[in-house]
Order: sequence, then C-alpha cells, then structure tokens
Amino acid sequence: MLMNADSRKIGKKDIVKLENRKLTREELNKISLVAPTATINFIENYKVVEKYRVKIPDVIEDVVKCSNPMCITNSGEPIKPKFIVVEKHPIKIRCVYCKRFTTEEDIMKQF
Ligand SMILES: [Zn+2]
Repeated sequence: MLMNADSRKIGKKDIVKLENRKLTREELNKISLVAPTATINFIENYKVVEKYRVKIPDVIEDVVKCSNPMCITNSGEPIKPKFIVVEKHPIKIRCVYCKRFTTEEDIMKQF
C-alpha cells in the first residue's frame, strides 16, 4: 500500500500523512497528478519531519503509463513514456508518441 489512506481517496484529501515511509521523486510526482492540492507530511516517531507541497509539472516523463495499449511506450521497446500536461484540474495528459489522452481515472488505476 502506498500510504495509510486508500489511494482512491487521495484526491479528496488535502493532507497525505506518511509514517516511516520514504517516497521516491517518482512516487511524489505520481501523487501530485491525482492530488494536486495536497501537502504531504512525512511522519517519524509521531512527529512531522518534513512537509512537501506537490505541484504538477508541465511535462511528465516516466511516471505514468500511456493508456493506449498499442502505444510504442507499452510495446516493450526501450522508450520511456512522455506526456504533455493538457489540463491540471482534473489532470489530463497527452502522450507525445501516440497523442492519446490519459486521464486521472487511468492514472488512479496504476497505483
Ligand atoms: Zn502513448
């Protein structure tokens, strides 16, 4: 499990609390896509040790998978997914290779 909260509820929460859990930059980027207003509190020994305010980049690389199963990035080729952010609230991104849109719902499925 990514965190204490059900991942489907992340989008409705403003604060995501993490206990004794380090997130990679990639995981943080992924959270930012579905919880753009969230502040992530890192908790150690019941204290908040770090706060991280997520923000959505304009270009997303290698964090989410393209929703198109026929996309070259899903074909086993050594090509990393790359998306242009079209809309941020809610998130809508466009694959630079196949031009297919990937939405918040698609991203949620990948958690
Ligand atoms: Zn694609």
